Amino acid sequence: MSTERREELALDADVLVVGGGPAATWSAVTAAGEGARVVLVDKGYCGTSGCAATAGMNNWFIPPDQQETREVAMRERYTMGAEMPDWRTMRRVLDETFRRLPELADAGYSFPRDDEGTVIYNHLQGPEYMRRMRRRVLKSGVKILDHSPAQELLVDGDGAVSGARGFRRQEAQDWRVNAAAVVLACGGCAWLSGAIGLNVNTGDGLLMAAEAGAELSGMEFSNWYGPAPVGGNVVKGFMYTYASFYYEDGSPLEGVPNLMVGRIAMAKALIDGPVYCRLDKADEAVQRLARVAQPHFFLMFDRMGINPFADRFPFRFVLEGTVRGTGGLRLIDDDCATTVPGLYVAGDTASREDLAGAMSGGGNHNAAWAISSGSWSGRAAARHASHSHSPRAVGQPRGIAALADGGAPAPPAHFDEVVRAVQEEVFPYERNVLRSESGMHSSLSVLQHCWQEVRDRAPDATAGRVRARETAALVAAARWAYTSAIAREESRGMHYRVDYPSPDPGPLQRVVSGGVDEVWAAVEPLREAERATA
Ligand SMILES: Cc1cc2nc3c(=O)[nH]c(=O)nc-3n(C[C@H](O)[C@H](O)[C@H](O)COP(=O)(O)OP(=O)(O)OC[C@H]3O[C@@H](n4cnc5c(N)ncnc54)[C@H](O)[C@@H]3O)c2cc1C
Repeated sequence: MSTERREELALDADVLVVGGGPAATWSAVTAAGEGARVVLVDKGYCGTSGCAATAGMNNWFIPPDQQETREVAMRERYTMGAEMPDWRTMRRVLDETFRRLPELADAGYSFPRDDEGTVIYNHLQGPEYMRRMRRRVLKSGVKILDHSPAQELLVDGDGAVSGARGFRRQEAQDWRVNAAAVVLACGGCAWLSGAIGLNVNTGDGLLMAAEAGAELSGMEFSNWYGPAPVGGNVVKGFMYTYASFYYEDGSPLEGVPNLMVGRIAMAKALIDGPVYCRLDKADEAVQRLARVAQPHFFLMFDRMGINPFADRFPFRFVLEGTVRGTGGLRLIDDDCATTVPGLYVAGDTASREDLAGAMSGGGNHNAAWAISSGSWSGRAAARHASHSHSPRAVGQPRGIAALADGGAPAPPAHFDEVVRAVQEEVFPYERNVLRSESGMHSSLSVLQHCWQEVRDRAPDATAGRVRARETAALVAAARWAYTSAIAREESRGMHYRVDYPSPDPGPLQRVVSGGVDEVWAAVEPLREAERATA
């Protein structure tokens, strides 16, 4: 990395897409297909960054002629999402994914076929998927800035988003893109838990948007923990459907038939002492298939000489936050528009409550959502840009916290300390799985202090700029999460309140939130119109 700061790189575009994962790449390809000039900026290298690039991904792909299968799948999702998913949204996602995913085959992705020769679209190999998506993005004329995280949005005099500013890490150069519309598709927030692929997912998009006045929704559904071996970071929920769990003395752990249903029991057991796991429900055929389909799952086990199908290994939960949660920026229409004009959102940066409700976890709908919300946001952003007559180069930066020109200089160690303080509030199962009003209030007072520690501090060196801003985003996301979780006075889906443990939740409600210095949350009824039933 060069240490000298260079002159700002300034670009004009119709649409700026922030992110480099599936949601961003589908959005960019779609916007370019509508005739828009598109710039895509990624914190990492587009095509290898983000959680999809590390994973084998199942996809919610059910052709419309398999109506019965669709209905069963939607019913399952509706139940799993604690009755919050919206039937119309589920149908739209299935339809859009069905329409768009086959384009990948045209782009050279080799989907397998079944014995009758029918193409199987339900599974994607993440690395190859994203490699193809990068090629598609470039082929469609989009300009990519790799290793160039966005740091703050630009907003014009009418309050509309008109671009963003960021930093090119390898060039040590600021960038500014003036654009008539911006799509935030930069993933969710996993609070730097170390889970595979998630360290770029620090909630930057949530912070940037909230600083520009956008609202969030469902941030209480941000406490998903994935299963992993102690010392390992590969989180593969599917493999643990074959698991049995044990106490240290070898006696079986009761009450955990699977990790969706047994999540609370597992958290309680992990608080009490070590838990061990063995994937002893996998027969030989499954074992053989797993080695082919999920090769990276076995790397750590092989290195340590553990056969996970035969040997017990120490088990833990790793926070995956909103990535396999459902909270994010609030959508106001079918186009993935946010509450701020000119700002669109896709993938895990968006609230997925309408699709996945109160429980996402593993599955296939996230991948389908990335494709469909990417497509809708890209199309809408391009159309917004084509109707926009406002001058573009007039936007003012709206970032508030931990920016290079933002306040008293602080060394990287200062921001690292704040990150650790936030993690101490969001990682522990006793705080974030077994939630209580008093526990969350106590966390919020620590987080308020953390916010003061980043609010008016600036990174003292170029190299610290990205982490400083990520730190502010982690603090902000934790504050929205707990403020929303206090407002939801019930247990629903992944949100469990020890002080409201009833398995019969109350009326259907949405918790919206926002604010950066003053964080707020409000409960709204889910309107009947949103609940179009089957
Ligand atoms: C291990 C694992 C397995 C999974 N398996 C499945 C599955 O089988 N099926 C399924 O449906 N879902 C699965 N998921 C979830 C799924 O991967 C995500 O929902 C999906 O990848 C979301 O896509 P995205 O583009 O929104 O985010 P991501 O894929 O996380 O991409 C985010 C992108 O934004 C970039 N970025 C971040 N901050 C900035 C910034 N400030 N500026 C610019 N760029 C930025 C990142 O570098 C990255 O490129 C899995 C998740 C994990 C972690």
